[in-house]
Amino acid sequence: MTHTFDVVIVGAGGAGLRAAVEIPAGFSCAVLTKVHPLRSHTGAAQGGVCAALGNLEEDTPEWHAFDTVKGSDYLGDQDAIEVMCNDAPRAIIELEHMGMPFSRTHEGKIAQRPFGGHTRPVDKTDPNSKRIPVKRACYSADRTGHVMLHTLYENCIKNRVNFFSEFFVTELLYEDGVCSGVAAIDILSGEVHIFHAKAVMFATGGDGRIWRITSNAHVGTGDGFILAYHKGLPLEDMEFMQFHPTGLWRLGILVSEAARGEGGILRNSVGERFMEKYAPTVKDLAPRDMVSRAMLTEMREGRGIKGSDGTSYVLLDLTHLDPKIINEKLPEITGFARTYLGVEPTTEGVPVQPTAHYAMGGVPTDIDGRALRSNKGDIVRGFYAAGECACVSVHGANRLGTNSLLDLIVFGRRGGKAISEFLKHAELPKLANGAGEFTRDTVSKLKASRGNQKCATIRTELQDSMMEDVGIFRTDKGMAAAVAKVAELKERFKDITIDDKGEKFNTDVLEAIELSNLLDTAEVVATCALNRKESRGAHAHEDYPDRDDANWMKHTFATKGDDGKVLIDYKDVTVTKYQPMKRVY
Ligand SMILES: Cc1cc2nc3c(=O)[nH]c(=O)nc-3n(C[C@H](O)[C@H](O)[C@H](O)COP(=O)(O)OP(=O)(O)OC[C@H]3O[C@@H](n4cnc5c(N)ncnc54)[C@H](O)[C@@H]3O)c2cc1C
Repeated sequence: MTHTFDVVIVGAGGAGLRAAVEIPAGFSCAVLTKVHPLRSHTGAAQGGVCAALGNLEEDTPEWHAFDTVKGSDYLGDQDAIEVMCNDAPRAIIELEHMGMPFSRTHEGKIAQRPFGGHTRPVDKTDPNSKRIPVKRACYSADRTGHVMLHTLYENCIKNRVNFFSEFFVTELLYEDGVCSGVAAIDILSGEVHIFHAKAVMFATGGDGRIWRITSNAHVGTGDGFILAYHKGLPLEDMEFMQFHPTGLWRLGILVSEAARGEGGILRNSVGERFMEKYAPTVKDLAPRDMVSRAMLTEMREGRGIKGSDGTSYVLLDLTHLDPKIINEKLPEITGFARTYLGVEPTTEGVPVQPTAHYAMGGVPTDIDGRALRSNKGDIVRGFYAAGECACVSVHGANRLGTNSLLDLIVFGRRGGKAISEFLKHAELPKLANGAGEFTRDTVSKLKASRGNQKCATIRTELQDSMMEDVGIFRTDKGMAAAVAKVAELKERFKDITIDDKGEKFNTDVLEAIELSNLLDTAEVVATCALNRKESRGAHAHEDYPDRDDANWMKHTFATKGDDGKVLIDYKDVTVTKYQPMKRVY
């Protein structure tokens, strides 16, 4: 079946929905998602969305931009960061007007709390002043993403956006620099549908499922990255994967940084507040890359707490907080600790370990969501990306907490606006040759497969290898081993077996396609990581422990070579006014 729309948006998380809201009534807009829109991962976001509103203490977009650049370890593009931080207060008020129920101060203003790496100078007349945490994150208890997603969904329904839920997109229709739509499997019937469109936006989220311990939803399999990559389009900075410090031990389920924002403290096996050693000024509110490394260092040096299975954790201590604060401001995450670990956070420490959380890299775009065709800055006609699957790049080598939800609403909107402008003059392009063939072929091959390998085994081995060798601390030897392991698993994937041969809701086939996407994304991530011979942000290379601005202050651009191998090229970082300096907190 073929559908025709002016614009097709793939992904119904915050980025996709914010873009959809922006498309004017005169243009037809479809949003495709492989799960119900309200099950997109944005709904799991907890702690907040930041903007220098200054509702509780003085704050400015300029200070926010400074923090974001420094947090990115000077890999973020400063023009894009300034756009985001300057637009943030407007974007929050706009969400409020759309109906988002924020938590409030006693005066009725939008409440704000501190988050890692967000600071203000103690003396604002001194550029070298010491910086202390600032209350910049707007929130709705610890359900910020949930209420944001619902608000945007309601606005899409009001604007009569066409939703195609449980449609699994498997092909980007692209030829000679022009994008003409997507192909998708209707999960309910198993039929392949073609969506022919003037413009396509990918808002497909991240790839956390490459790692064994992750905070990401099961749908986070990097599909958008790899569909673009397979068409010869570049992926930027894929080596940078953020590990969030506080995942529930062994499960990876997230305990928001808001817990530390409200006063929670990390403690090692001897009860020491160890972050005082690593970040003397901001302590537990240091950026995530630093806190995750500190936790792992404590564990490696024998100050972790050994669990029943021999693995280690540290404790997130909330016991000194008023139980009223815990219940009012952190109801979800304390509920998770009770439900999943049987721990009572008001009276005992919560066992935590770092968890794979956020992909800083992705489909490179300009500041209006237009996907780049190469590192020269030329764009793909009709193809856009926003949200976690895009790389603008505002997060560089390490994202600050609450800057992702902000990225969704700022660049989702800008992408939606750019698409609306484009549609005013765009004709429906010729459909790419062989649209849907790849999908039909893949599905029939998978259904016919009767090999000796199981998807679940390959996935587990992939996740273990990436966790071990392309995790928080990395070495040349480990990363080379991971590249080899992924190659081995890709070979073994050719010999898998699929038990379900049916048409309807064939999750066996879908999981195999997702695994194939995970393997290909992991190949890019591990290869780019092995290539970067320095330490920057989330990429902590033990053989090259220092940041090397002379040789490596540049973005990685990875494309698929004719032989199927990952080709690596670079793009300069845009610097406006923030010169690189040592990152101390
Ligand atoms: C537990 C958790 C807590 C977080 N808390 C915060 C926070 O407090 N503040 C903050 O700023 N950030 C937070 N983040 C990060 C932030 O939530 C995410 O980066 C952001 O929500 C991603 O939004 P998105 O719109 O890009 O994609 P998502 O919300 O991940 O949505 C992706 C969409 O793409 C669709 N899709 C994917 N592949 C396909 C395909 N092949 N076919 C069809 N559809 C497809 C999915 O169905 C889904 O609709 C958190 C993340 C996690 C995991």
